[in-house]
Amino acid sequence: MNTQKISKNSVAGFSYTLKDSDGAILDQSDNPLEYLHGHKNIIQGLEKELEGLTIGDKKDVVVQPEDGYGLIHDDLIVAFPKTSFPPDLSLKVGMELETDTEQGPMVFVVREIRDQDILMDGNHPLAGEVLHFSVEIKTLRDATPEELDHGHVHSHGHHHH
Ligand code: ZN
Repeated sequence: MNTQKISKNSVAGFSYTLKDSDGAILDQSDNPLEYLHGHKNIIQGLEKELEGLTIGDKKDVVVQPEDGYGLIHDDLIVAFPKTSFPPDLSLKVGMELETDTEQGPMVFVVREIRDQDILMDGNHPLAGEVLHFSVEIKTLRDATPEELDHGHVHSHGHHHH
């Protein structure tokens, strides 16, 4: 019998359903998502609630925006003059554009196309949302020394940097 529990430096895999406050499904995965526990690889409000669980455990976790994808910051909703976009780019509402900022690359979503400018939103799409997770722990093992060194999971031989 495996009595290992999720703790710092565990590699845990969980399936999940993510709903918003109205019960609409935002995201879902039956394939276990593996992460390295205690290294902020997943949102904090979820990670702290998975501590101590073991394989087969199911848990419903409600995560407030502050512990999830953050609150909506009005200063991340910015109007850019149309002239600052490449002329051959056909902009559509909902389109995501990556741009370099002083804080590194950021994704902005086109919110509104106006006469003179484009209203862009740099908030995470789930910012401001109360997140309702239903998770089931599917896999659990110790991290390898290399994973601990890198601070993230190396699953299925893939290695993204
Ligand atoms: Zn790595």
